[in-house]
Order: sequence, then C-alpha cells, then structure tokens
Amino acid sequence: MTQKVNMLINGEMVTSQSQEWIPVTNPATQAVIAQVPNATTAEVEYAVATAQAAFDVWKDVAVSERARVMLRYQALLKEHHDEIAELLSLETGKTFEDAKGDVWRGIEVVEQACNVAALSMGETMENVARKVDCYSYTQPLGVCLGITPFNFPAMIPLWMFPMAIACGNSFILKPSEQDPLTPMRLAELFVEAGAPKGVLQVLHGTKDVVNQLLVHPDILAISFVGSVGVAEHIYKTGTDNLKRVQAFAGAKNHMVIMPDAQKQQVINNLVGASVGAGGQRCMAISVAVFVGDSRKWVGELKEALAQVRPGAWDDKGAGYGPLINPQAKERVLTLIQEGKDAGADCVLDGSDCVVDGFPDGNWVGPTLFTKVTRDMSIYQEEIFGPVLLVLEVDTLDEAIQLINENPYGNGTSIFTASGAAARKYQHEIKVGQVGVNVPVPVPLPFFSFTGWRKSFYGDQHAYGKQAIRFYTETKTITARWFEDDIASGPNMTIELK
Ligand code: NAD
Repeated sequence: MTQKVNMLINGEMVTSQSQEWIPVTNPATQAVIAQVPNATTAEVEYAVATAQAAFDVWKDVAVSERARVMLRYQALLKEHHDEIAELLSLETGKTFEDAKGDVWRGIEVVEQACNVAALSMGETMENVARKVDCYSYTQPLGVCLGITPFNFPAMIPLWMFPMAIACGNSFILKPSEQDPLTPMRLAELFVEAGAPKGVLQVLHGTKDVVNQLLVHPDILAISFVGSVGVAEHIYKTGTDNLKRVQAFAGAKNHMVIMPDAQKQQVINNLVGASVGAGGQRCMAISVAVFVGDSRKWVGELKEALAQVRPGAWDDKGAGYGPLINPQAKERVLTLIQEGKDAGADCVLDGSDCVVDGFPDGNWVGPTLFTKVTRDMSIYQEEIFGPVLLVLEVDTLDEAIQLINENPYGNGTSIFTASGAAARKYQHEIKVGQVGVNVPVPVPLPFFSFTGWRKSFYGDQHAYGKQAIRFYTETKTITARWFEDDIASGPNMTIELK
C-alpha cells in the first residue's frame, strides 16, 4: 500500500475521505511513490470556513509576531534544506543540486517575508489641510488562494503563502497533484514554526477542486502559476467572480547573441539555460537568436549540447533529470517530429534517449533545431522540454522586432560587449525580465517576478513590494482633532485650503 498524501486543514494533517486518488510517480522509474486525493466538496468547504475563522484571529496578531513565525520558518527550511531537496528530486526527477536551488529560491522569499513590517508600512502626511493629517495603513484581505504548477514544487508555493500570511491573511494552497510531497513537507515545517491552525491550509486535487475554490465567495484573492490556457481560465473566472487575481503563465524566452559577445560565455550560458531542468522552467531559454556573424558559433553550440546527458537525481554527472510524466515526454516528441516535418533542421535529436538502468524514465536528450521559421509549431508553442531553436537575423533591430512580435513576455537576455546595444535592447524589448549577459534573469525577492503580456495576467506580480500590494488593501485615513475652535456652521462646499 503506497503512502496516502495528507492534507493540512485547520492545523491537522488529515487523510482525505475522497474516493478519487491520483498516483504520484517517480519520473525516472514510473514507480508509484504515493497517492494524492482529489479533495471532496465538503473538505474544500471546511477548509475555506476554517481559513476564514483563522483569519479573524490572525489579522490582529502583531506584525512583529507574524514576522517571528517567518524567522523561525526560514531557519527550519535551512535546517531541512537537503532533506526537502531529496524529496523534491524523488517526485520531480530533478538532479539533487537543481532541487536544492528550487528550495533555496523559496527560502529567499521567506527571508523577505521576515521583513514584512518595513515592507508594509503605509504613508503619512501632516497638514494636508489646516490641522488635518492623512495616513494610510495596509490591511490584509482575508482568505487567499494559491494554485501552483509541478515544475517548482518548493519555490512557487513559497513565492505565495509566506508573503500572504506575513501580511495577515490566511491562505489555501492547492499544489500540483503531480508532486504534492514537497509542498506538504513545507507545510509541516510551517506548522512547526508556530503558524496558528488554519492560517495555512493545503488541499489536493485537480481542476474540480480548483474550480470550486475559484468561485467561492469567501476567497478574495487568487495567485496562480501554470500553463497559459489554465492561467486564462483562472484569470477570467476569478475576475468574473470579482476577485483579485494574479496569473503567471507560459513562456517562449529568447536569447539574443550579438557578434561582439564572448563566444564561450554564450555557449556555456545557452546550454545551461536551455536544457537545464530538462527545459521545464518558465524562464528557460528556448530560442537563440544569432545576430550577424555570431551564427558561425552554432556548430560549437551543438557540440556543447551534445555533451550534456540526462540522468537520475543522484547521478552527479547528469545535466538534468527526466520530464515529469510520459504524457509530457510524448508531447515533446510530437513537437520535435512536427519541427522535422515542417522543414526545420534537427541537428541534434534527443528523441531516442536512453539512460542506463532507467528504461522507463521520461528521458529526452538535448535537441537543437536550426532553419526554424516563425510559422512552425515548435516556434509558436511552449515546448517545455530540452529543445533549443536557432533563429538567425542580420541586425539587433530585427531581433527586437521578432521578439516583440512573439506573444509571450516572461524573460529574455542579450549577450553583448556593447553597452549601447544592451541599453537599446533593455529599453525597447517588450518582455518583463531582461538579462544583460545573464541568461535566466529571475529577480531576487526584494524585486518582483515581472512577466508581461501572455506570460502574465493581472497587475501586481509575485513577491517583493508588489506582493505586499497584492495581498493587502490600503486604508487611507484623514483625521482632524478639534481644539477650542468652534465651527462656524455647516460647510457646504469642497474646502480649497
Ligand atoms: P498546469 O497549468 O497544467 O497546472 C497548474 C495548476 O493548475 C496545477 O495545480 C493543476 O492542478 C491546475 N490545473 C490544471 N488544469 C486545470 C484546469 N483545467 N482548471 C483548473 N486548474 C487546473 O501547469 P503545469 O504543467 O503544472 O506547469 C507548467 C506550466 O507552468 C508551464 O506552462 C510553465 O511555463 C508554467 N510556469 C509559469 C511560471 C511563471 O512564472 N510564468 C512559473 C512556473 C511555471
């Protein structure tokens, strides 16, 4: 009997009463490592009700006490860093070092949440009118909801609930059903850090659970990260139900390579950014745009990619792990075939990848396409696999136009020795996160994660100051205290000074 994954409801780790259980598998072997429930309607309802009750108490807890929970939490996460990473590797297939990075990027957000008092201060102004002062507070919203994807089961939940809860909200997390063990371990440690019961709830399940939560009248704000179709559904349904929504979606990230760039830096960075984590990163580089003479480096890029091999999580020589499930592998192989059929040149083909000792793993080897055109499905769709496309243009202006015409706007980078080219690129490109000689420009948590266009629906982004704005309301108070002056009578107009 495989382990049943618990849910966290009202401070208790509970076994769902659901009749529907979904297998959680090890993507390197297909071994079933756990069963995760599709929470029942009654469990969802109870989780929202107890989150609401928890909020009614937590909202009045002193900000320094809320920060202390986060301080204890970040210490516990650091203490258990390796153990969480190992669990994460087991259910995602990520290499151990990559799994540690996933956890670390989340810990950094918790460190920011410790800073909630300074971050959430309001503003004050004396004498906005004679003897009248104005000041603002940030107040929590209530019950918030987070729906997270499979590809960062530590980092992305940690983008959400620590900031929301530090602000005084309660939070319901619905992690990906594909790798729920890591988020559950994060939740256990949060309870151990002293979080009061009901402040964090974890519900498992698929779209039925999400859809029940999306329209629930007691949920006021929704954070979503996942694929573009689902992001659009979440954003439309959430806002139709008059909720605050931030929805982070898919991507097609381009790297521009100028001929004056340092060749070896370009090649090293492109390899890691494109096939690292098997390309299953929303900030992975999936298109390399070679400008002018830099195109002659494509041969060396191919040689470097061919050196990378996937492997098991504890194989120190492996560049990355398997894809998350057989369907994901099938989808990537279909897209590779479509690329070939459409006339692109598959100069490195990872379709028939075999890893010794793991015949059932979802392996795809590094794959490189040249002669790609923009009408091909491999260019138009997010592949989410270790597949890099090469496009060639003659000028930086052409590269900028190409990228600005792509509907996605998550991340991009330019490699160049020219400050003028970099300055022009960062100014003109319609992408929310830009790297200058940095291939995967994920902002650290004192900034925010600022995808644009089809990669993000909403206005306030994840973590940083924008998260504080997303998870709070601003209340502005205009105050006058009477001394001895006696009002001369009712004032019937707007005061001018
Ligand atoms: P997904 O959209 O399949 O699932 C995300 C979450 O939504 C899961 O919790 C899932 O249970 C739920 N869900 C799935 N289908 C649903 C439906 N029809 N209705 C309601 N809920 C539904 O995404 P995934 O495959 O887990 O993750 C990969 C995707 O996430 C990629 O597209 C990647 O680019 C994107 N992503 C984006 C960012 C970003 O910051 N922009 C970060 C990480 C991942």
